[in-house]
Amino acid sequence: MLNPFVYQNSELHCDGVALSAIAAQTGTPFYVYSRDAILERYREYHEAFGEHPHQVCFAVKANSNLAVLALLARAGAGFDLVSGGELYRVLAAGGDPARVVFSGVGKTDEEFEYGLRTGIHSFNCESPAELARLSAVATRLKLTARVALRVNPDVDASTHPYISTGLRENKFGIDIAEVEAVYAAGAKLPGLTLSGVSSHIGSQLLDAGPLEEALGKMLALIGRLRGAGLTIDHLDIGGGLGVPYQPHQTRPAVGEFIRRVCERTAGLGLTLMTEPGRSIVAEAGALVTRVLYRKRNGQKHFVIVDAAMNDLIRPSLYQAHHEIRPLRESSEGMTAGDVVGPVCESGDFFAKDRLLPPLDSGDLAALLTAGAYGFVLASNYNSRPRVPEILVEGSTWRMVRDRESYADLVRGETI
Ligand SMILES: *Cc1c(COP(=O)(O)O)cnc(C)c1O
Repeated sequence: MLNPFVYQNSELHCDGVALSAIAAQTGTPFYVYSRDAILERYREYHEAFGEHPHQVCFAVKANSNLAVLALLARAGAGFDLVSGGELYRVLAAGGDPARVVFSGVGKTDEEFEYGLRTGIHSFNCESPAELARLSAVATRLKLTARVALRVNPDVDASTHPYISTGLRENKFGIDIAEVEAVYAAGAKLPGLTLSGVSSHIGSQLLDAGPLEEALGKMLALIGRLRGAGLTIDHLDIGGGLGVPYQPHQTRPAVGEFIRRVCERTAGLGLTLMTEPGRSIVAEAGALVTRVLYRKRNGQKHFVIVDAAMNDLIRPSLYQAHHEIRPLRESSEGMTAGDVVGPVCESGDFFAKDRLLPPLDSGDLAALLTAGAYGFVLASNYNSRPRVPEILVEGSTWRMVRDRESYADLVRGETI
């Protein structure tokens, strides 16, 4: 696997571009993504399916920058949405609506209508009440909605509780014990074509075991649904495969997993869909920041940087770990300390009691594996303008989202 962030002549690069060169022109902080790494990871999924009818639908919520979506669209990707705003982005980026699936537990009538009018592939529906609303909207528009039921297979994804979705106690999906009745009732509703089932059990799975367990339950379910005379032509296995955030973690064998899915579904006449987000973009991105100050409080040593939790909230929200690398490689020893941002919250940290490379005032550093659930979760908290996004294309780079200005901060407000 290509790792886009490596030292060349002691300077941290993203592919063919020194990150310090970008910093010199754009200032800090900024997000940077490698085009080549994103495409390589997308192709790993796509190619593993081989001849099996399939569609890889990138989960837009992981990284919704138009340039990222556009390069995936050109490579043939479909998209998995969780809002009308994401559909707007996909269309603006040139995505093909026929390759789009619309997920999410709380879609509105406006979102149903937008999806129906643009001709998306299908809606992943999560409750009988939602089926009834979608049926009403489709009937009013004299259109037909293709639907897959999102099944909650009651599998423990063994991941962080905030990103685990496949247990009965989570809000997601329809209890697998109730799916047959809901499917049969839904198939009778006007304006709907029930044609598939989907499941998505959680995120950051470093082991495909729980996904294989869910697949077994889904295949048994498909057998029962077909036995009852119901039509199933597609199976959406969701997303959720993880990435190594820490050196001791290893990335799951994506290709092997997909090939096993193909083997287990061979001859069933199912189009396979998958919805990876993190595993396509996380390792392709980094957040680059500058050290403002160092300070000591008692025994504690702090490195204060110009990026903060409003730019990258994963450490605060999920206790997530991001490796921190100085842009200039150093052979000096490591010291223990915290890396923190300027936001007025004790939860504003990127690392706690971590052995850190030498980082002095003015030095630049990169927080790695920040391409997924990074910029998309950024906010303007503390009235901090959101940072720019940069796309590296081989040995060139361009800004694909401008740094926000103070005027952007107050846009739409009145006194
Ligand atoms: C978030 C989400 C995904 C993507 O999950 P990753 O862990 O980023 O691969 C896929 N499908 C659904 C329904 C989601 O909510």
